[in-house]
Amino acid sequence: MILEARDLAKDYGPVRALRGVSLALERGETLGIVGESGCGKSTLARLLVRLEEPTRGRIEFDGVDLTALHGRRLRERRRRIQMVFQDPYASLDPRQTVGGAIAEVLRVHDLARGAGRVAELLGMVGLAAGHADRYPHELSGGQRQRVSVARSLAAEPVVLILDEPVSALDVSVRAEVMNLLVRLRDELGLSYVFISHDLSMVRHLSDRIAVMYLGRVVELGPWDAVLDVPLHPYTGALRDAMPVPDPELEAGRVDAPIRGEVPNPAAPPSGCPFHPRCPLAEEICREIRPELLELLPAHAAACHVAAREVSAVRSA
Ligand code: ADP
Ligand code: MG
Repeated sequence: MILEARDLAKDYGPVRALRGVSLALERGETLGIVGESGCGKSTLARLLVRLEEPTRGRIEFDGVDLTALHGRRLRERRRRIQMVFQDPYASLDPRQTVGGAIAEVLRVHDLARGAGRVAELLGMVGLAAGHADRYPHELSGGQRQRVSVARSLAAEPVVLILDEPVSALDVSVRAEVMNLLVRLRDELGLSYVFISHDLSMVRHLSDRIAVMYLGRVVELGPWDAVLDVPLHPYTGALRDAMPVPDPELEAGRVDAPIRGEVPNPAAPPSGCPFHPRCPLAEEICREIRPELLELLPAHAAACHVAAREVSAVRSA
């Protein structure tokens, strides 16, 4: 276990953005996190890299409680968990050259200096040494995101938290950047938390997938089990809403929306938070919130109906 979150919660005033999330990331593993906009994915990411303090809960990195560390020891541990943001333009200083931005990370962490290391990091993300002299506005979106990745790698992380890393990019360059991320993970032995609102984006690179709804994990399991036999009706709806490539239409991604709206996180529904949108909802779903339970081996869901059906199959 390289990174573990225990009962992490974060409130922004009345908005309970995260309501108790427990997740563990194994060394070398990629954990995909999916859910509609507003379900708390970015909040979770910011807590994991300690950009923000949790309202409640603990984060352990390599067996050490990060919330108990201070000063140099905290900085040293934090360096090992880096984040890649959705919008590379926002995370790069427009007045700083690419080389300057990477050298700054090396300097802050007191790591190997010099143009050699900057060129090496640029090479790792598929850019030329000459890109060091460019400014962010002189690069394409894909190149800027490569620079963000190089900047994260400069800190010599063991875990990368990737928050929608290709969502802001042109569809034409998404696959390239995804392939780069997979190659870097495998070559450098990194562990990833890969966040996306789009299930189709996480399925190919994830070992396990966690599905979030209104600040909670509602399903967690091996990626193929989650996609092939989703236990939670919300996961089923996300899967059915997945864009289907349509060879007839060049633009052709047919999105089937999930029925209903995401509820207000400041005033969530009673019982199961998904019940107002759930085609299978029963009386109990309106009254009692289901716990996340391991219904199948290594495959957990928070759903009364799924729990009953699995136990019926078991006892049959
Ligand atoms: P996601 O990344 O899944 O779209 P976020 O983590 O960004 O979700 O947001 C979760 C909820 O918390 C949303 O209702 C959002 O409006 C709210 N939220 C996020 N950040 C803040 C903040 N800094 N202040 C107030 N509310 C916030
Ligand atoms: Mg987000």
